[in-house]
Amino acid sequence: MKILKKNQLDTLWERLARNAELYLPTQKGDQSGFFSYKTLKPEKDTLMLDALNVYLSPKNIVLPQTEMMYSFTHQGQEINLEEVYEDPTPRIIFGLRSCDVKSIDRLDTVFFTRGFVDEYYRSRRENTLLILNACYHPGPNCFCEAMGLSPRESESADIILHDAGEEGYIWVANTEKGRELTGNIEDILEEKEISYPQPRPFTREVDYTGVAEKLKDMFSHPIWHPLSDPCINCGICTYVCPNCYCFDIQVKTRGEEGYRYRCWDSCMYGEYTMMAGGHNPRETGMERFRNRFLHKLEFFTERYGEPLCTGCGRCIAVCPTGINIIEIMEKAKGVEPSA
Ligand code: SF4
Ligand code: SF4
Repeated sequence: MKILKKNQLDTLWERLARNAELYLPTQKGDQSGFFSYKTLKPEKDTLMLDALNVYLSPKNIVLPQTEMMYSFTHQGQEINLEEVYEDPTPRIIFGLRSCDVKSIDRLDTVFFTRGFVDEYYRSRRENTLLILNACYHPGPNCFCEAMGLSPRESESADIILHDAGEEGYIWVANTEKGRELTGNIEDILEEKEISYPQPRPFTREVDYTGVAEKLKDMFSHPIWHPLSDPCINCGICTYVCPNCYCFDIQVKTRGEEGYRYRCWDSCMYGEYTMMAGGHNPRETGMERFRNRFLHKLEFFTERYGEPLCTGCGRCIAVCPTGINIIEIMEKAKGVEPSA
């Protein structure tokens, strides 16, 4: 088997960053996320290779928070497209956890399937290589296995690292892209047989079985009122969620020039469903709250066969009012559907 010694990490990153934008899990000030290797300041920033999940998911690398789409000029009714901003820069995300790899899979499902390809997303995603850091010690908010994925395996990860402590990382090339990259850095890998780490059990028992089916009949259920009461519709849960992908498209013009861009939006905000005439089909906080959980746990499963939650636990950790998607599932399972 191939082993990457930990004292070779700097050499590896330096080599990877020669031909690609490399992102590492990092604490920068009071923020943690996947930040570009080029921006790292060793005296100030802290690498977070052992953290289960950094605060910000890697979704912004394939779906930026704000993204220029195209620019144009116009004269009267005549509009000329000037530039389309696709971004094929090669990117490598190092040290993602399985929940975040799977969430990129879900984004692929949304942006590539059902007869539609989002070219802005495609230009980034096709040139992005994923290096998974397998999880052996799930945290108190982790429940990825319950959502149908393995914390240590992923078809979509190009390379899978298994942290064997002082022995280094077991390096597994998992896709053609991963094997190609491995071939380029083979000289810093060692051939040695070592044992895989022993996984610890999950601390939370979560069972998604039957939740999607149960929620189908619960759109008008009164339980949504007490469940949503504490929610202040701040939207931070959608911001940190690696699976939430909704965006808004805006246009800016100055004289005869202009550009269109898109930016993340959140179903938790009142304007999200506001129509031009002022009607809002999801006027209340309860309706928006209900939509978020039904979309994640029922609608998406009905449409694509898998839930729009990969069990990363971020929304549980950040919600200022203690709303917990695991408890929503448990409560949904416990009520009479026709009540
Ligand atoms: S983080 Fe909590 S309070 Fe804020 S919108 Fe999400 S569920 Fe509501
Ligand atoms: S819904 Fe919550 S637990 Fe599920 S993937 Fe999104 S942030 Fe993570």
